[in-house]
Amino acid sequence: MDFAAEIENLKKEKNAVLLVHNYQIAEVQEVADFLGDSLGLARKAKESNSDLIVFAGVDFMAETAKILNPDKKVVITSQEACCPMAGMLSKQQLLDAKKAHPDAQVVLYVNSSGECKALADSCCTSANADKIVNAMDSKEVIFGPDRNLAHFVQKRTEKKIVTVPEDGYCYVHEVIELPALEVAVERHHNAKIIVHPECPPDVQKRADHIASTSGMVRLAKELPDKEFIIGTEVGMLHRLRKENPEKKFFPAFENAVCRQMKKTSLEDVYLSLKEERFEVNVRDEIRAGALKAINRMLELSV
Ligand code: SF4
Repeated sequence: MDFAAEIENLKKEKNAVLLVHNYQIAEVQEVADFLGDSLGLARKAKESNSDLIVFAGVDFMAETAKILNPDKKVVITSQEACCPMAGMLSKQQLLDAKKAHPDAQVVLYVNSSGECKALADSCCTSANADKIVNAMDSKEVIFGPDRNLAHFVQKRTEKKIVTVPEDGYCYVHEVIELPALEVAVERHHNAKIIVHPECPPDVQKRADHIASTSGMVRLAKELPDKEFIIGTEVGMLHRLRKENPEKKFFPAFENAVCRQMKKTSLEDVYLSLKEERFEVNVRDEIRAGALKAINRMLELSV
């Protein structure tokens, strides 16, 4: 079966929109209506006037789309696509941190559960984390669950960042270690280094630029350089190469692969559209609070 053609037919028939994260496999990226990072896709979900939203990404992203679109049907292409980092922060840990720091406001990375978002003052993504933290009223900000992104923000704010949990991380960016990056630099010594703020602090320090995936897309276009070493999930390279055919992109570490992002095949996208599987639902009591935190982020990041 020509899954790509069937997907296009089903999208029209059902007035559906297909939102795809930058880390998905190349074949899935190719059939996207919108391809982007968490922030870009959340914006597209909010603007959508489709009857069906199909999300090829991980659990918290589809949940965010549902929180923004309670009256629409939202489906995720794989039930097993659960971000381990989002699972590293529990509601109880967040309640404990709030109790210990009663004057602190809470900024949570969108890579978190809906029930944690419901306790936050604002969400953020890697594209806007420092801007959102700096917009908070308090001198202390509880921030989680990624300690490396917290480190990135701490370097860009006068506020005291309280990281919760202390050791939350993304296993994909955590394996992009400095020795691996140095090997890539030896091989491609003219290349500019761009890394994601989920990478370890010493890798961030070594980079020429630290950027979210949408920031990488922009920098790759704008910078005059012809070669780049990219420190993030390797699925990102497909988009960068496609949009900049005259430039060269090399992974900082080629085994930086998110297994959860790779759970979705083209057939899964087809089946999600055809059978409207797997539906995402959010309980009302969680939705109201989480919506406030997501909308605050969207307002502050304009
Ligand atoms: S790349 Fe990291 S943060 Fe993103 S979904 Fe995979 S495990 Fe989660």
